Amino acid sequence: MTLSTLRQKFLAGETTPEAALRDLANDIATRDKQTGAYLSHDLESALAEASKADLSLPLGGIPIGIKDNINVLGQPCTCGSKFLAENYLSPYDATVIRKLRAAGAIPFGRLNMDEFAMGSATENSALQTTRNPHDHSRIPGGSSGGSAAAVADRTAIATLGSDTGGSIRQPASHCGVVGLKPSYGRVSRYGLVAFASSLDQIGPLTQSVEDAAMILQAIAGFDPLDSTSLDVPVPDYLANLNDGVKGMKLGLPHEYFGDGIDPGVRHTVEKTIAKLRELGAEIVDISLPHTEHAVATYYIIAPAEASSNLSRFDGIRYGHRTKQPADIADLYRKSREEGFGPEVKRRIILGTHVLSSGYYDAYYGRAQKVRTLIRQDFENAFQKVDAIISPVAPSPARKIGAGAADPLHEYLSDIFTLSANLAGIPGISIPCGSTDFDGAKNLPVGLQILAPHLEEAKLLRVAKAAEL
Ligand code: GLN
Repeated sequence: MTLSTLRQKFLAGETTPEAALRDLANDIATRDKQTGAYLSHDLESALAEASKADLSLPLGGIPIGIKDNINVLGQPCTCGSKFLAENYLSPYDATVIRKLRAAGAIPFGRLNMDEFAMGSATENSALQTTRNPHDHSRIPGGSSGGSAAAVADRTAIATLGSDTGGSIRQPASHCGVVGLKPSYGRVSRYGLVAFASSLDQIGPLTQSVEDAAMILQAIAGFDPLDSTSLDVPVPDYLANLNDGVKGMKLGLPHEYFGDGIDPGVRHTVEKTIAKLRELGAEIVDISLPHTEHAVATYYIIAPAEASSNLSRFDGIRYGHRTKQPADIADLYRKSREEGFGPEVKRRIILGTHVLSSGYYDAYYGRAQKVRTLIRQDFENAFQKVDAIISPVAPSPARKIGAGAADPLHEYLSDIFTLSANLAGIPGISIPCGSTDFDGAKNLPVGLQILAPHLEEAKLLRVAKAAEL
């Protein structure tokens, strides 16, 4: 059931928020044993909220699953890390949670993720394996793998994820659901555990484009608690959702359709492009010439920011603390050594290196300049087209364990999603079909749509037209 269908059922008196929660809890108890999307859930406190739900509100009584790096008062917030798994409970609600509650929704359940959102497979979670509901031998994608898998497995109506370089869109693509990364500054980051602060955004994962629009409507808007949140009006994201693509110009960046894309992914995406053309869109070839530098740029800037953000995990203020340290320096060192997993350590080392004196200009400083060029590529392209269309990932979900040996290969597979974060523009992944891959049949394929900064309404309109 989609969010909008459930809402109609509430309004028609056909079911209640309590009944919906109990159904989900039953499904989690049965199906999620195999999928492993949920790290925890608290039915009792959700039921208490449901009994007071105001169904007249836009998301009245709707349960929403939350990625385990977004703070919900009194609940665990592990970030998929041993560091926070032992004893940390959130002392406050993130702004998105406050806004969801104000719209009537009920945060329900904590979803697995790559540790501190670093990864593309959810295999970097230190706590649990999450499997793709379409094929349990495969990854759900990441880092919001739990958020995508729960929606695909129908153990959640909708969820929130976070996207620093593709972490909403790529798992949505691998699991066959909708995933929206809003423009940088559109949604408050207050209460999201920071990975790379200049790239992070929170967004919805849903079964339909309409559901994504409904959640964005609730969570978007200015927040004085996030200095990068934008003080601009929030448009009505549902008003023009069904206006179609007739007369719109949609750009195909030739850099996104080169070698290295699985032929089944290419074919599925091209079929959807043909459909958009039939619906009256003009398809235009464009170029984003700095695309080839996106991976290098992102994997300098994101680890640099992460190395600074993660310095707060020192064994003193949050989570894990080593037993019997020799002195204070030993306490910091051992707490971090014991608490962080290998990918997080790799990123901290990378980030510290590119920020260190002697290397700062050559790496970090230069990456910032290339970031500007990547942003300008999009500004130039959006002079000519309304939105940009591409694959989300070069191939469908791979087997669990098949990528572990080669982090660089994993980083390269982020090529189509990273640029939107570097440029700050919104992006969405919608299911556009399925393909056979690597011995498996019918694995989901996502289509990515990118739009100019703050043009989520346009983005959602194209997505709605392209939706299966
Ligand atoms: N896969 C990318 C990374 O590992 C993006 C992760 C994200 O968006 N949080 O950094």
